[in-house]
Amino acid sequence: MAEESNNKFRDLLSGFEKACRARGLRLTHQRLEIFKRLAERPSHPTAEDIYRKVRRNLRTISLDTVYRTLSTFEDHGLIRRIQAVDNVARFDTNLHPHHHLICIKCKKIEDFYWPDFDELAYPESATEWGKIDSGHVELWGYCRKCRRKLKKVK
Ligand SMILES: [Zn+2]
Ligand SMILES: [Zn+2]
Repeated sequence: MAEESNNKFRDLLSGFEKACRARGLRLTHQRLEIFKRLAERPSHPTAEDIYRKVRRNLRTISLDTVYRTLSTFEDHGLIRRIQAVDNVARFDTNLHPHHHLICIKCKKIEDFYWPDFDELAYPESATEWGKIDSGHVELWGYCRKCRRKLKKVK
C-alpha cells in the first residue's frame, strides 16, 4: 500500500473505533476485521466481496453474519450503503460529502468531490416533493482502463 492510502486507512480505522465507542457499540474482533476489509481498496465492495476477504482470517464466519454486521454499521451511521450497480448493495466508508463515478463495464465505483455542487440549493421541484435528507450525484460511463480496452477491441 502506498503511504498516502496507508494513512487514509489508519484514519478510517481510528475514526471507526472512536465512533464505536461514542455509540456504545462493542468493538469485537469480528467487527474490526469486517471494517478493515471494508476500508481497504478497492472501495465500495459488496457484502460478498467482504465475506471472501474476511474468511481468510475468520474461517467460521458466515455471509449472513457479514450482512448483519454491515447493517449494524449502517444503522449506527458508521458506513453508507449505496444501491448503484445491478441492484447489489455496495458499502462505503467515506462519510464526507462526495459523489460517485461508476463504470458501466467493470462496475467500479470511485469517489469524487464536487464542492460547487454541494453548495447549491435544491430546486423547488425537489423541495416541494417533501423533506430532502441527503443526496449525491452518480456519473456513469467507462473508466479510463475500460475505455483503453474497448479501443483495442474495435
Ligand atoms: Zn471500468
Ligand atoms: Zn463513495
